[in-house]
Amino acid sequence: MTVTDRYARSKALFAAAQSVIPGGVNSPVRAFRGVGGTPIFFSRGSGSHVEDVDGNSYIDYVLSWGPLLLGHAHPAVLQAIAEQAARGTSFGAPTELETELAELVIALMPGVEQVRFVNSGTEATMSALRLARAYTGREKIVKFSGCYHGHADMLLVQAGSGVATLGLPDSPGVPASTAASTLTVEYNDLDAAAELFRQHGDTIAAVIVEPIAANMGFVLPEPGYLQGLRELTRSHGTLLIMDEVMTGFRTSPGGCQGLWGIDPDITCLGKVIGGGLPVGAYAGKRAIMQTVAPAGPMYQAGTLSGNPLAMAAGLATLRTAFDAPEGETSLFQRAAGRAQTLADGIRSLSEQTGVPLQVGNVGTMFGFYFLKEAGVKVRNYAEAKQWVDAARYAKFFWAMCERGVYLAPSQFEAGFVSAAHDTVDIAVTLTAIREALLAARG
Ligand SMILES: *Cc1c(COP(=O)(O)O)cnc(C)c1O
Repeated sequence: MTVTDRYARSKALFAAAQSVIPGGVNSPVRAFRGVGGTPIFFSRGSGSHVEDVDGNSYIDYVLSWGPLLLGHAHPAVLQAIAEQAARGTSFGAPTELETELAELVIALMPGVEQVRFVNSGTEATMSALRLARAYTGREKIVKFSGCYHGHADMLLVQAGSGVATLGLPDSPGVPASTAASTLTVEYNDLDAAAELFRQHGDTIAAVIVEPIAANMGFVLPEPGYLQGLRELTRSHGTLLIMDEVMTGFRTSPGGCQGLWGIDPDITCLGKVIGGGLPVGAYAGKRAIMQTVAPAGPMYQAGTLSGNPLAMAAGLATLRTAFDAPEGETSLFQRAAGRAQTLADGIRSLSEQTGVPLQVGNVGTMFGFYFLKEAGVKVRNYAEAKQWVDAARYAKFFWAMCERGVYLAPSQFEAGFVSAAHDTVDIAVTLTAIREALLAARG
């Protein structure tokens, strides 16, 4: 295959990595199991583009899985990191930057009154659940099948069907006793959630939800669904945790809660707030956040939490993306406009080529499923598994790489547009998609 030559150095590096790193990667989706072949190793990125170790260049729609809202190596972010690094990389003591970023997050996210910074999205959701349990004095939590909230034990659980069941661990090493307090229901099924609450309502500490299910592809909430979860949880004294690690600062400046007017008790953040450096945060109503040590009894800590480099990168990213002079479009709005053009283009290419796709986009995020049949709709994980044509996506993915466009190496991941993607990038991408759709169809 021509693929062999084009990616020769990536292949060699992957072989070397596999002998010293399990599976050759530090996060499983990077291993390309979803599309076959071997992962592409990158050497540099600038704006909308990345370059691999074989010298191939790509327009990048992965953007480190979301964080790079301004694109790669944005000058404002680089400058903020460099200036802070010269003053010191970590103190393990408070800095002014933490308060500044917290204030900015509070100003942007309507459901947030206080913020605690951590180092990853996983840490954010794990801590948010501990907080919900501490605050309510209850143990059970509810998550939705196919929603991903990082890899903490109690979140690596997924029921096998739309029927509400007691959870079974999704991975060896997760104690059955831990998984047993995680209840799972199908996404977008308010009746199933209501039934679960009829049975267990007064023992449920929290419901955790991705406001857009974007770790099983790109599944939008049905109209009224999130509002329904809000009412259901409120009426049972259960906290609603919105996991906006991916959607925060990507769907709108105020995330999905700002866009759709949902008022969560706790919000989880990550990805964009670190501007490409490792950060997470859990945040929410003051009365609840006051439970966190040292204000309250719930313990949670971190040697590098609120790390000044990461705070500086996050601040530079958010300020640059959302600050715009009166009457001018912000960089965020520009990126969202490009994402809209891209998604609309993909919709019409699906019609023109006769390849059935389910296309979605909100703000700077987008996604498209290759469907086994025209006319079916994916609203949850069960339907995703039933209707998605992952083999066709794999062909399409490699055809896109050959045409200089890098998409997620899995059909079950979302895509991202940055402020650096220009109209030429979008046009080039749509031309490549037309050709790759025809290649994948044939
Ligand atoms: C990425 C992601 C996480 C996990 O964040 P990490 O920084 O990878 O630990 C949690 N929730 C959602 C919705 C995510 O997209």
